[in-house]
Amino acid sequence: MADWLYPPRCVACGVLLALNEPARYVCVDCVDLFEVVTTPFCGRCGAPVKTKDDAGESTEAEGVIPPNAEGWTATGTITTGGAEIKSCASCMGRIFFFERNIAAFIYDDLMREMLHDMKFRAKKRVATGLGQVWGAAVSNNVSMANVAAANKNVAKCDDLTASKNVAFCDNFICHENPFRDFILVPVPMHKKKQRERGFNQAEIMTLELAKKISVPVSNALVRTFDTPPQSELHPSQRVENVTGVFALAKNHDARGKSYILTDDIFTTGASINECAKVLKNAGAERVLCMTLCITVKKSSEK
Ligand SMILES: [Zn+2]
Ligand SMILES: [Zn+2]
Repeated sequence: MADWLYPPRCVACGVLLALNEPARYVCVDCVDLFEVVTTPFCGRCGAPVKTKDDAGESTEAEGVIPPNAEGWTATGTITTGGAEIKSCASCMGRIFFFERNIAAFIYDDLMREMLHDMKFRAKKRVATGLGQVWGAAVSNNVSMANVAAANKNVAKCDDLTASKNVAFCDNFICHENPFRDFILVPVPMHKKKQRERGFNQAEIMTLELAKKISVPVSNALVRTFDTPPQSELHPSQRVENVTGVFALAKNHDARGKSYILTDDIFTTGASINECAKVLKNAGAERVLCMTLCITVKKSSEK
């Protein structure tokens, strides 16, 4: 569609966007309205947690990845690299097949409206716009980058400088890119549902995220059963609803590979955890998750 006929508008507020910014989908004012997840956050699901130690000081997570489920103690804390990472009440005692989720934004009213437009009014432009905002948040947010920098596979950037191969050092696509050994895998939709909507929102958003963090995207998983949307179910029914519905895509070999599963929202984590299980069972070495947003859990929720 020609821009002069249908000039591009912000997918959040509808304001006309400057024609010299063809790549932009969300206006600068709206970008500021998204609420970024800041420390301290749960070391497992990535939800913000309020923690105060006895001295009244905030015991912030220092940006270390809990290596895997085995390292967790009964009290839901883990010590990695000298920093104790706390899990939120909802994650305590649960079995996870991914190391941790990195959530970019809080699921608030603005996010609810945009996700609704994207999913139920099939607005692909919204998915692209949200993916752009997501990518910017992940690549700019120091705390998130630090979280992943504990990746044991990452060489120090100094090594790169020493070898005079400094071409990548000025941006995120460098030796310090904590995600460089990973493959992004969007949580798949069932074929039938994807045909109805015309696109998988997680995939569209992930392609935008991938551009920012320079990580390849693979549709390594498929959804083999069409089940009711998780949002229509009580949290207690969600695990059962997704059990066994995901499978490795034909001809995909996951052995020894590291993945970042991606989705629009983390609520109970049932779907993404089931996806992580499939990848781990297929021989994946590491599985992290990234979600555009996360619901802030009430203490009564599990
Ligand atoms: Zn706007
Ligand atoms: Zn948690």
